[in-house]
Amino acid sequence: MSEEYKWGMVVDVDRCTGCQACVVACQVENNAPLSSEESFQRRRPMQWIRIERYWEGEYPHIKARFLPLLCQQCGNAPCEPVCPVYATYHNREGLNVQIYPRCIGTRFCANNCPYNARFFNWVEHQWPPVMANYLNPHVTVRPRGIMEKCTFCIHRLHRAQRQAKGEGRVLRDGEVQPACVQTCPTNALVFGNLKDPNSRVSSMVQDERHYRLLEELGTEPSVVYLKKVVPGGRAS
Ligand code: SF4
Repeated sequence: MSEEYKWGMVVDVDRCTGCQACVVACQVENNAPLSSEESFQRRRPMQWIRIERYWEGEYPHIKARFLPLLCQQCGNAPCEPVCPVYATYHNREGLNVQIYPRCIGTRFCANNCPYNARFFNWVEHQWPPVMANYLNPHVTVRPRGIMEKCTFCIHRLHRAQRQAKGEGRVLRDGEVQPACVQTCPTNALVFGNLKDPNSRVSSMVQDERHYRLLEELGTEPSVVYLKKVVPGGRAS
């Protein structure tokens, strides 16, 4: 494991308004194909980060709750040991990485992911001509037949790390952010180095509202959630 970095994210559910700016930012940054109504109906939408919506209470006292959900970058990732060609593996900085050219499309990893955070390219995606110049040149366009997912905008991380290394230093807290974090208007998403005791994420994961999704499965996610505060000061 890297001595300097272990990347993680904190999602403050209390701050999320469900605006979906993070979803759009992720799709544009990572050249994710546009999901149509038909792709949702066929249960094949492509969203590396999605907003799960829940309803609480009974009409008319009903409230919508939002839960941003992305790859949890599990420390003990169920997707990794089932890949027959090692296309998904754990890197030294705690990320669950996907090697696109190695993937042969068995989809074992997606079937083993309890968070439904992996997406298979069932078709060769086409972008409308008007969007041709919007594709991000720093990110590959994945062809049909392979699996893809969030890796905390690893291309941004690598670029910033190269620059920091050239300057003989480690990355500073907040110096690099995934597109979703950068875009969130309410700062519900915070990204950083869990190995840095002074980073914002390191202090936020100590918050008494913290929890991890499905942690009883032993997946050891690197994404930590902070519970919503409901009237009366309770966290739910
Ligand atoms: S951009 Fe922020 S507030 Fe909007 S849905 Fe995403 S996490 Fe929630």
